[in-house]
Amino acid sequence: MLNKIDLKGLNLEEMERVVADHGEPAYRSRQLFHWIYGRGVRAFDEMSDLPVTLRTGLAERASIGALASLAREVSGDGTRKYLFGCADGRSIETVLIPDEGRLTACLSTQVGCALACAFCLTGTMGFVRHLQPGEIVDQVLALQRDLQPGERIGNLVLMGMGEPLHNYDATVKALTILVHPLGLAYPPRRITLSTVGLVPEIVRLGHSGLGVNLAVSLHASTDELRDRLVPINRRYPLKELMAALRAYPLPPRSRITFEYVLIDGVNDRPEDARGLIRLLRGLRCKVNLLSLNEAPAIPFRRPSQKRVETFQRHLKSAGILATIRESRGLDISAACGLLATETNHTPVGKQRNG
Ligand code: SAH
Repeated sequence: MLNKIDLKGLNLEEMERVVADHGEPAYRSRQLFHWIYGRGVRAFDEMSDLPVTLRTGLAERASIGALASLAREVSGDGTRKYLFGCADGRSIETVLIPDEGRLTACLSTQVGCALACAFCLTGTMGFVRHLQPGEIVDQVLALQRDLQPGERIGNLVLMGMGEPLHNYDATVKALTILVHPLGLAYPPRRITLSTVGLVPEIVRLGHSGLGVNLAVSLHASTDELRDRLVPINRRYPLKELMAALRAYPLPPRSRITFEYVLIDGVNDRPEDARGLIRLLRGLRCKVNLLSLNEAPAIPFRRPSQKRVETFQRHLKSAGILATIRESRGLDISAACGLLATETNHTPVGKQRNG
């Protein structure tokens, strides 16, 4: 059988080539692109403004891949966690978080993760594979299909399973589709990419012109401690990381976000706060404090709320913008660091193709 080309994941230029192969002019590719990403249509015969010959031609030689919805759980706090199946039977988790009338979608970029941060459950899975651009984009389309009337996804955060900058090319390609006016049309300032601190890719991202927000998972202010918590620090130590961030071409009025997971007795002491203040001095940034989410496989404890607030007070008194992010979706293991698809052998079969 002819191997059909999957259009989901192609950028506009690539779709232009597909359309040209069918003898159609370039503007048809913009229509096709908009049907697939802007309207989330998965069947060529629904693309009513395309000529029938193009629609049947595409149906013969192309497909529109889609993640299979395998499971959905709703937390007591309204957070929804989705288990999506990929074409090869792998699965990923995506989280939808309601917050003050707005929904934030937390997307995965890899199956598993290679970076093995000491307190992260995704890390215990190890690295399985990178997600393809279409699989990253389709998480948003799949969530959109499941929205209630009046609901809208306002923000996208690349904070699910995986390290987005380890999967740089697919992530950036997905982002270009997510922000494209004919695609999903998300304003870049509504998208945040979170990284553990891969320095060369941070530099590349800064020069990409994408303009999405950058969040950096810091968690420690000394190399000695960060080496233990975030092993990639041995390759890209704090000095290099901070130099790259100081040179990062930030859009006007925006800041770099630092995520700092507070771990009881490990990185939540007054001296840790002082170290952090020194490290961030003069940088246009804010700090997002998270209490460690616990799990049996995570060998650390969550600090008391009092310790968290004391840490925040230290930062604030030094003039650093510091917020405490509450854990969402804890009861369904949808909270930060708890995403892990242990059963990565879900049967294929629910895959729908246009
Ligand atoms: N790899 C990227 C994207 C994942 S974002 C990154 O590290 O930034 C997921 C966020 O959850 C990261 O800030 C991560 O450090 C944090 N996290 C991991 N394990 C956690 C846990 N057990 N409790 C709270 N946050 C955790």
